[in-house]
Amino acid sequence: MIENPICPVCGAECETIYKDGDGNVIACDECISSRDSWEWLADEKEAEQDERDDRKYQEFRDEEIV
Ligand SMILES: [Zn+2]
Repeated sequence: MIENPICPVCGAECETIYKDGDGNVIACDECISSRDSWEWLADEKEAEQDERDDRKYQEFRDEEIV
């Protein structure tokens, strides 16, 4: 019986292994996901905005305490 290849990153049996430019295994089809790059960019911008809002709130609270 041939054992299925196991991903060194997540330990799952997988069909595809993904490597970086140096040949290091970085993921497999079980532990990597792809996303439409435009949707991803929108998410990133949103997260950035949220972070900024959080900081503003934090500064506001810090002033209140002092
Ligand atoms: Zn994996």
